Amino acid sequence: MTTSVKKTLRRVGYVFEERYLWHTPWIVQFSPLVQPFQHWEHAETKRRFHNLLLVSGIYNSLNHLKDVNPVNEEDLQLVHTSEYIQNIKTQSARLEGGLADTETTFSQYAYDIAALAVGGAFLAAKKIMDGEVENAYVLCRPPGHHALADRGMGFCIFNNIALTAKYLLKNYDSVKKIAIVDFDAHHGNGTQDIFLHEKIVLFISTHQSSNFPAQSGFANEVGEGEAKGTNINIPLPSGSGGGAFKYAFEKVVIPSLEKFEPDFILVSSGLDASYSDPLSSLILSSQDFAFMTKSLVSAAENLCDGKILFLHEGGYSEHYVPFCGLAVIEAMLGVDQVLKDPFLGEIKSWDGTHLAEHQKKSIDEVMVLHGLL
Ligand SMILES: [Zn+2]
Repeated sequence: MTTSVKKTLRRVGYVFEERYLWHTPWIVQFSPLVQPFQHWEHAETKRRFHNLLLVSGIYNSLNHLKDVNPVNEEDLQLVHTSEYIQNIKTQSARLEGGLADTETTFSQYAYDIAALAVGGAFLAAKKIMDGEVENAYVLCRPPGHHALADRGMGFCIFNNIALTAKYLLKNYDSVKKIAIVDFDAHHGNGTQDIFLHEKIVLFISTHQSSNFPAQSGFANEVGEGEAKGTNINIPLPSGSGGGAFKYAFEKVVIPSLEKFEPDFILVSSGLDASYSDPLSSLILSSQDFAFMTKSLVSAAENLCDGKILFLHEGGYSEHYVPFCGLAVIEAMLGVDQVLKDPFLGEIKSWDGTHLAEHQKKSIDEVMVLHGLL
């Protein structure tokens, strides 16, 4: 089914490269009794997201940003140590690929693809700054928000979003403060760690409490030294759905953005808080992703001339990531759902998508910690 979109839409940039899909993590077998299976962070989920943009007709309303170039080592050193960069580069040149840590495996040429993912993010940031597009979505692989300065983690090799923040701060005098909002189901520990002492970067993360990484993402991790208060973790109990996320956005995320007054907003767009994701126990629908996106785009328009860039992170449900991704893109464009989400009825029939008292209590604790209540 192809749908034409006729309303006046925002100019949305879109970065997608075939080579992003060639990155191939491989499974470290848990036991000889476990039949080999496909790695969770595989290309097909992202390919299906892209393909749904095509068949829905939404792709025709996007500004596909092409001529993406890989970043160089100097760019990667904005965040990562030269030893780590060299380590990935050396392993990546080998036929058998390598490891960025024990769970972050990669095949040959992963360095090139990871550098191309960062290059896509830089290009989108530049196009927004140049005013060629109003906002943008980068559908890249590998993801980035778990990667630390000196090691990969959680399927992430280079921290795409932290690098993009550093790139903007380095190259644009008008960008003095950046906010990073991370709605991936897992805690963006790498991004937090990189900016924990930097008061010019506000990091806000909604994530499932005690999922991944273990012992990370607690509400009392608020930033250190002069950066105290610029790190806002909103850990949500497993089973949280649209009601909890709506409350968190209305009471913490958006008011914190308004208080910080960023010059640019970056979003770690993980789509793994959906109801059918194999790596989380949260129950968001495509409509919930649309709500979060609308809120963030609207905040960007009020605070920083609409400058907001979404970088793809996790999301492992083959059938549902595409509909959540489509909802995000539609909200960025400023159109309502053009293609019916066939799974919406099923999610709405579930009990527990409304804000529960124990979920409210968790969010209220964050509000108290950050002076919002
Ligand atoms: Zn995730």
